[in-house]
Amino acid sequence: MESIRYSSVWELLSEVPWWKSALRFETTIQRPVEISGIGLHSGVAVKIRVAPAPVSTGLVFLRSDLGNFPIPALWRHVARVSYATSLMRQGVLISTTEHLLSTFYSLGIDNAYIEIDNLEVPILDGSGQPFVELIREAGVRHYRRKRRYLRIRRPISVEDRGKRITILPDDTFRLTCDVHFDHPLVGKQALEMEVTPERYAERIAPARTFGFEYELDAMRNMGLIRGASLENAVCFDRETVLNPGGLRFADECCRHKALDLIGDLALIGKPLLGHVIAERAGHAMHAALVTRIMSDPSVYEILTFDQLASRVAHALVS
Ligand SMILES: [Zn+2]
Repeated sequence: MESIRYSSVWELLSEVPWWKSALRFETTIQRPVEISGIGLHSGVAVKIRVAPAPVSTGLVFLRSDLGNFPIPALWRHVARVSYATSLMRQGVLISTTEHLLSTFYSLGIDNAYIEIDNLEVPILDGSGQPFVELIREAGVRHYRRKRRYLRIRRPISVEDRGKRITILPDDTFRLTCDVHFDHPLVGKQALEMEVTPERYAERIAPARTFGFEYELDAMRNMGLIRGASLENAVCFDRETVLNPGGLRFADECCRHKALDLIGDLALIGKPLLGHVIAERAGHAMHAALVTRIMSDPSVYEILTFDQLASRVAHALVS
C-alpha cells in the first residue's frame, strides 16, 4: 500500500502551523533549495535552485544558463500546450512547467525564484511529490502583505469536440475532473474535491504522469519523451501496468489529470476561488479557459481573505 507512505508525509506537513495562516498572507520560502533530474521530453540534465522572492513577485523562472533571463509563470507567456505546457518570453523557453507550478500553487507559495539551468523542468519521479518535499525542506515564510485572491463572479465555459471545461463561482478552490481511457485498469474515473494544501499533498501530489505503450513510438518520432522511463512515468500496455511497483492509487490517472489541471490554472498568477469542472479536457483547454478568464475583468473580482470572510459572515447573519 504505497499510499500509506504518502499519508505519513502529510502527517509531517500537518504539524506545520503555516497551513492556516497561509490563507491570509503572502508567502515565500525561507531558504534556497536545489533539486536535479532530467527533462521528460528533452532528456537533458537539469538543475533547479528555488530561492525566496519579495512580496508580489509571483513565481518567476530564471534561466541561469542565460544570465538569469526571467520568465514569469503567467498565462500570457504560454507557448505550447500539447503533451506539456511550455512558457516562452522573447524566444526563451521553459517547458513542462505544470508539475512544479501545480505543487507550489496548491501549497500556497505565492513568491519564489525558480532558477533553472536548461530548457525543461526535471520530471523527477513523474509526480508532484518531490516538489512537496522540496517545499517542506525550504520552509515557508509569511509576509505582512495580505494575499489577493481571484474570485470568479459568473460561469465561463470552453468547449471543443466533446471536451469541455467550465468554471463556476465558489468561495473555495474546487475541482471536478475525469479521464476516460479504454483500458482495463483505467476506464472512466472521476474526482471532485476542494483543493487545500493538506488534501493536495496527500491525494494529488503523488500521482504520476502516465502513457500507453502503443503510443510511445509516435511520441518519440515527434521528438517527445526522450527522457521517459518507468522511473518517471506510469506506462500501460494493452492489459496491465508495466511499472514493477504497480499504481500508487487505483485512480492515479485521474489524480494526475487534476495535478496537471492545477498546474495550468496556476498561470492565473493569483490564488483562485471557483469551481473548475474539466470534462476530458487537456492542457490546451486548460490554457484556453485561463485566457478567457484573464481577458475579461468582468468575469472575476480581486479580494483578500478577510474581505471574503466578512462577506460570508455577513451573508450568514442577514
Ligand atoms: Zn503531468
